Parts: sequence; structure tokens; C-alpha cells
Amino acid sequence: VIYLDYNATTPVDPQVLQAMLPAFTEHFGNASSRTHAYGWAAAALVDQARTTLAKLLGANPEELVFTSGATEANNLAIKGLARSSRKRHIVTTAIEHPAVLEACDSLQREGFTVTRVPVGKSGVVDPEAVVQALTDDTLLVSVMLVNNEIGTIQPVPEVARLCHQRGVLVHCDATQAPGKLEVNVQKLGVDLLSLSAHKFYGPKGVGLLYVRRQKPPLRLEPLLHGGGQEGGLRSGTLNVPGIVGMAKALELSVANLEEESKRQAALRDRLREKLLEAFPRLLENGDASQKVPNTLNVSFVGLDGGALVASLPRLAVSPASACATAKPKPSHVLLALGRTPAEANSALRFSLGRPTTEEEVEEAAAMVAEAVRKLTRG
Ligand code: PMP
Repeated sequence: VIYLDYNATTPVDPQVLQAMLPAFTEHFGNASSRTHAYGWAAAALVDQARTTLAKLLGANPEELVFTSGATEANNLAIKGLARSSRKRHIVTTAIEHPAVLEACDSLQREGFTVTRVPVGKSGVVDPEAVVQALTDDTLLVSVMLVNNEIGTIQPVPEVARLCHQRGVLVHCDATQAPGKLEVNVQKLGVDLLSLSAHKFYGPKGVGLLYVRRQKPPLRLEPLLHGGGQEGGLRSGTLNVPGIVGMAKALELSVANLEEESKRQAALRDRLREKLLEAFPRLLENGDASQKVPNTLNVSFVGLDGGALVASLPRLAVSPASACATAKPKPSHVLLALGRTPAEANSALRFSLGRPTTEEEVEEAAAMVAEAVRKLTRG
């Protein structure tokens, strides 16, 4: 089976696994145990990983809060900030991941108001439209860096600059960016930023929230109460192997970024070309010139994406978005671009990764061509 679903998740890089192993075995201590060598060793591994991650992200080590992933980081950022703010309005975009949109929905049920800024056909939000949505009561703007379904890059630095001029804080769900785009909190200019290790060849179940250190400090209401780890923002015994693995994974992603971007862009372009040959009515979703190199989301207009995926048993790809397949309805992202429900339901997302080879891309394209032939004939 050819795997072209790297936006859903990635395999753990062997070097990441090697780095993690000692944290499962000899250094198994609880990083909060302050009275013996086992605890000190675990705490030292966490400190080292925190320093590495902070350096790679342009942050200070104290500004990172380890979480179980981006879902938790997004929830902590959005709910945590809202629940400790006197303001009552949040601005986000129509194409965010459910971990942002559903967190906002839950705040709406608590009495907050939420504006979801629409995006045009390009799949890129207009910073001016974000500014138009701001009110005196806006406490936060949350905009993703890279869309998980279509791969479009959002103008986060410009959004942050304009929002800060108006005294509004900015959160960025950067989950899909590492390995595809530089992630530097200074250059992005954001106050809060979420990551999840398994999207960049790290382990599942670990992520982080960057919280800018400022005066007066940003106040976040924790989601989890307990032992007071992570400065009281995230109680619970630290996932030492996961944290060590995430640091190694980000290191490798940054080191490979330039070369892999070029390589994957060429493969992605080749895939697009072959698919167009096989299906001339192919519609690409989102502006191709504003995308990360690994993602290709295309509608096979007139076909059913589910049926197409079902007729590709040797190809691992997603109809629209893996995260949304538990609820089989048209992708909210594709609808936001102005696609009809039928066009949205005919879409497949191909996402390439570091292990993807030219042979795999050729073979995948041939499989799709064959499946399309069968479906259009029948
Ligand atoms: N945000 C984005 C943009 C994502 O792609 C994902 C994963 N699909 C998440 C958040 C959630 O990440 P996790 O499931 O690791 O918590």
C-alpha cells in the first residue's frame, strides 16, 4: 500500500525512536521527582528537549507548555485565554481545524461570541477581513499557518501585525507547518502557537503550546488541574519520551526543510500533471501558488470521493480530511472555498512526505487513472 496521507500523520523517524528509547527504560523517572537521581535524569532530558525546541522555534524555554498534542494546545490557548479574560469576542477563520472551531463553539455555548471570517476561492484569509471583524470586545484572533486539507499558507505575520496594532492577541495553529515551512514565533509575531509531534515524524500524543512571555503575563485558565506541572498550566506527569522525541523530530524537520521542500514540490507537481491527464475535469482546491510543497487537494468532479477511495485499496489517501471522516459530510474547508457539496464530496487529499519516492508517485497516479477509468465507464 502506498501511503500518501502524511498530513494525517507520519511515521516516527528511526533517529527519533533512537533518541526516545533511553527515556522509556533507564531514564524512566518522573521529571517532577526532585529528591533522587531518577527524577533529576528525567528532568534533565525534558530541560534539554525544551531548550532545543525553543531555539528551533525562536522562543524561550519557559515559553513552552507541553501538552498531549495540538488539540489540547488549541483548546488551552483558546478556552484558557477566553475564560480568564473580561472580553467576550473571538475571531477565527472558516477553514480552521475542528480543534479550533469546536473549541470556539463550546465557548459560544458559554456565552462568548465568535466570528468565523470567510475565505475566498483561494483558501487564504484576507488580513483586512480579519481586521474588519475585530471589535473593542475581541480577546483573541486564531488563524492557522497551514491548512491541513488544502495546504494553503495563511498570512499569519500580517494578521499578527494588524491585530497587535489594535491590542488584540493572536494564536496560531501551526500543526501542519513543520517540515513544510519555517516556524519561528518571532517572525510570525504570534502570542500563542500550537504544534503536534506526530505531524513531523515524532510520536503521537505529544505537542506543545508556545505562550509568549510578556508584561503583564498572559493569563490562561488551565484545562487540567492537578500537580501543577508546566507552571500550573498543564498538570500531569510529563511524557518524557514523547517530549524528547518531539525535540529530535523538529530538529530533523528543520534540517531537511529546504531540500525536502524542493523534492516534494517536484513530486507533487508531477502527481498533479498525471492526475490531470487521467481526468481533465480535475479541479484543484485552493490557490496552487500559495501552498506548502507536499499537499494536493483535487476534486474529481462528477465522481464520489468515497467511492474513489474505496476503489483504491492499495493507496492510502484521504477523502477531503481524515480528521473529518468520522462525520461523513462535505468538508467545511471546501465549502468555505465556494465548492458545491458534490464538488467537495468528490475531493481527495494527497499529502507527500519524506519517505515518498518518485516511483510511488508514478504508481499512485496510475492507480488513480485506472480507478477513474472504471468509475466513469460504469
Ligand atoms: N490542527 C491541525 C491543523 C491539524 O491538522 C491537526 C491534526 N489533524 C490538529 C490540529 C490536531 O492535532 P492532534 O490530533 O495531534 O491533537
